[in-house]
Amino acid sequence: MQTVFTASRLYSPTEEIANPLVAVEDGRITKVSSRTDQEAPGGAQLVDFGDAVLAPGFLDIHIHGGAGLDVMRAAPSELPRLGKFLASHGVTGYFPTTVAAPLDTTCTALDRLADAIEDGDNGDSVQGRPLGVHLEGPFLSHKRRGVHPPENLLEPTIELFDRLWQAARGHVRMLTIAPEIPGAMEVIAEAARRNVCVSLGHSDAQLPAAQAAVSAGARHATHTFNAMRPLDHRDPGIIGQVLTDNRLSADIIVDGIHVAPAVVQLFLQAKGIERAVLITDAISATGMPEGRYQLGPILVDVKDGKCTFNGSLAGSVLTMDQAVRNVTQFAHWSLQNAVRAATLNPARTAGLAGHGTLTQGSEANFVVLSAQGEVRKTVVGGRGF
Ligand SMILES: [Zn+2]
Repeated sequence: MQTVFTASRLYSPTEEIANPLVAVEDGRITKVSSRTDQEAPGGAQLVDFGDAVLAPGFLDIHIHGGAGLDVMRAAPSELPRLGKFLASHGVTGYFPTTVAAPLDTTCTALDRLADAIEDGDNGDSVQGRPLGVHLEGPFLSHKRRGVHPPENLLEPTIELFDRLWQAARGHVRMLTIAPEIPGAMEVIAEAARRNVCVSLGHSDAQLPAAQAAVSAGARHATHTFNAMRPLDHRDPGIIGQVLTDNRLSADIIVDGIHVAPAVVQLFLQAKGIERAVLITDAISATGMPEGRYQLGPILVDVKDGKCTFNGSLAGSVLTMDQAVRNVTQFAHWSLQNAVRAATLNPARTAGLAGHGTLTQGSEANFVVLSAQGEVRKTVVGGRGF
């Protein structure tokens, strides 16, 4: 059975199509055209979203939880609750992200997450799906560890990386690592060889170590500015490399708390519409009342939209649709370009083929937005209208 979706505009996201027609069969997009050029095909079910904008489903490549669930603790049967919450904010795919924890705890969590990833799309409900694991740690700098517990940080070795890889049954898609710690370069090279997106972060690296990491295979940077050696005009360090190297994409938390709006603007100008990636770094408290919430092995206090542990920022309660709207406000980016930073760019960064675009052959995962970027509906695998 073919379904054809229409609305007032579509962002592919590189192109804008007026009066789009998106034909979907068996969960995939079979054709994207415009009512301006052709009539809606007869015999298909037509779903009309009126004056709305169609955009690819958002992807969140750095998220620790939401709706009261922490991804390191949730049972596979609980994760759909997080998936539904994420879908209500336009997210159709995500990378559950670890926090540095005792190795056995991490491996148990990775085994559960691998189950959830392998379960795939097995139901009728509309939910964001876990597509791969992001290892945030344990290979982080003590100096820039943020709230990751110091006793859980480890020096990188290929053996340790392989143990995590095996626990996740090969579903590790991203690795945040500090390139300046001993052993990091070998692990960067090995992870890159296994098609993991190696992301520089939680790092006190100076410029040469950051450059060497890119030569070894690093391709991205994690929550730029946060948990990084600060930019100094005579000592640019890792941020100097991240902002100027076109081989690197980079992500940022645009909640107005982690990075000041003017610096978000600087970042977006530096990385541009092709390399800027939005993440939430959201924790279990997202979508919940203020209080005390789990983030991996630690308990975080949430008040006035701020998550803290011993006075340090500990993740966010940001949702991806809000991040997209914030980009349009902080940097005056068009909704189309802001959407790109939450869809195509993370898909390219993380090598997620079939995600992040509304083009022929892509999965029929999309979000129906108002002109202001409010989520009206989310469609996953052609379902949910
Ligand atoms: Zn994080």
